[in-house]
Amino acid sequence: MKLRIGFILVAFVLIFLTFKAIISQNTSKKSNIKMDKNKDIIKQKVSKTPEEWKKLLSPLAYKVLREKGTERAFTGKYDNHYEKGTYYCAGCNNVLFESTTKFKSGCGWPSFDKPINKNHIKELLDTSHGMIRTEIQCAKCDGHLGHVFNDGPTSTGLRYCINSVALKFVAEKIAD
Ligand SMILES: [Zn+2]
Repeated sequence: MKLRIGFILVAFVLIFLTFKAIISQNTSKKSNIKMDKNKDIIKQKVSKTPEEWKKLLSPLAYKVLREKGTERAFTGKYDNHYEKGTYYCAGCNNVLFESTTKFKSGCGWPSFDKPINKNHIKELLDTSHGMIRTEIQCAKCDGHLGHVFNDGPTSTGLRYCINSVALKFVAEKIAD
């Protein structure tokens, strides 16, 4: 009798271990897929000559995206824009921000508390103009988007201060 109980116990342990192994294999597969997806974004790099960019962008968009310029505060078309939708890079259509993460900062530029995917943007140290700031670039075309600051009012504590001219907005489709 004791032997039989022992055998059943061993069988249960074996079954449990097999399931555990299967589950952990599946999770590692999932995370691999996620990593590949992120790698793809970097693989799809967009690079153009200044002449090619000039043909594609308005003079102001070129100045901001390709020459790290800044549009004048309170002049951008998305500064006071709160429609539901998604913001893409104006240079390469890389998906960047969701309207649900946009907030009124009063700083004169569109402000978001987080990007759609951290891998879609790049953070670089910017020491220009006598300031230490974190520059935000598009990870796909290396276009200058704006800066990120640690004074955000939401739970992320971040304020992604982005030039309107570096963005392209696509409104959310409303079902008929
Ligand atoms: Zn881009």
